[in-house]
Amino acid sequence: MKRYLLAPGPTPIPPEVLQAMAQPIIHHRAPEYEALFAEVRRDLRQLFQCQNEVLMFAASGTGAMEGAVVNTLSPGDPVVVVRGGKFGERWAEICEAYGVRVLPVDVPYGKSVDPAAVSAALQSQPGIQAVFATHSETSTGAVHDIQALAAIVRETPALLVVDAITSLGVMDLPMDAWGVDILVAGSQKALMLPPGLAFAALSDRAWAAVPGARLPKYYFNFAAERKAIEKNQSAYTPAVSLVVGLQESLRLILAEGLPNVFARHDRLARATRAGVQALGLTLFAEHPGAACTAVKAPAGIDGGAIVKGFRKRGITIAGGQGSMKGKIIRIAHMGYVDGFDVLTALGALELTLADLGYPVKLGEGVRAAQQILQK
Ligand SMILES: *Cc1c(COP(=O)(O)O)cnc(C)c1O
Repeated sequence: MKRYLLAPGPTPIPPEVLQAMAQPIIHHRAPEYEALFAEVRRDLRQLFQCQNEVLMFAASGTGAMEGAVVNTLSPGDPVVVVRGGKFGERWAEICEAYGVRVLPVDVPYGKSVDPAAVSAALQSQPGIQAVFATHSETSTGAVHDIQALAAIVRETPALLVVDAITSLGVMDLPMDAWGVDILVAGSQKALMLPPGLAFAALSDRAWAAVPGARLPKYYFNFAAERKAIEKNQSAYTPAVSLVVGLQESLRLILAEGLPNVFARHDRLARATRAGVQALGLTLFAEHPGAACTAVKAPAGIDGGAIVKGFRKRGITIAGGQGSMKGKIIRIAHMGYVDGFDVLTALGALELTLADLGYPVKLGEGVRAAQQILQK
């Protein structure tokens, strides 16, 4: 059976990247690696739209999230955390694990944060050190207005720390221009790589907070990593084969051009939304992002059964997590994807819904998406 991976991470990997990673491994202290690493560092700064070095760790994206916490904060520090889904909740869980005091700004699942609520939380007490937010909340499909949050946080001494794990390379997020202090990302989403690399970029303001941060750390020591990267090295053995793949995926992304990459994701997201809505289904997110589309399961149909119907056809999508389990399905369209992936997903959705007794006219969702793709 031919397989399609349309889940919000891991995502499909282009053949060029797979082939690069299949080469015999090279040594990370050899000139060959150093030339590659210099190119990767330069290209990562372009992708992050930042001047400072982008740090890289052998971890899933959560490793960079943990690093952002332990490198900027001390025990008992008060921080504001936007909790609008599983990944916003993860920021709070990491902070709590380290004894950081969380002032949550809770957002109902599927909604996006009201920047005024973050502003109010920042003013609720003195000494707030950071605001943690998620650009693309993959668990609900919602996008949060990071530009608006940055404008608010920049007026205070707090740092703005953003999980861009499913927005980097999907939606525009000019880190320096907007004034984001820490941006974290992972390899297995729009970077079109296997899981295993985590990234973090820090503004000058964030770097200024690093020496005073007293939370414990060893591997995720940002200062140690920066010292190494400035010598074009990494502090510990890097995930060499993934970095070799990264060189290739960055080349692909930058050759397409960031504005074109963002426009492609936007077009695929709009086509997906039009397709599911033409079938009479409802979007879960009020402000849906371009990485993945979360759709409410129709009344009387279990979302898990829809996911199973896709799997039976060789297609992996995602269901809902936590309290959203069974209630939503999530179709990703990020990274190495094009319009035909969207049409595949919608075709499978129509067949699956028909199997499950939902009244569907075959082709209606596909046609609505084609109309968007044709423009
Ligand atoms: C995938 C994802 C993560 C990180 O998950 P890992 O499994 O640690 O890579 C974090 N935040 C968001 C928004 C994600 O989509």
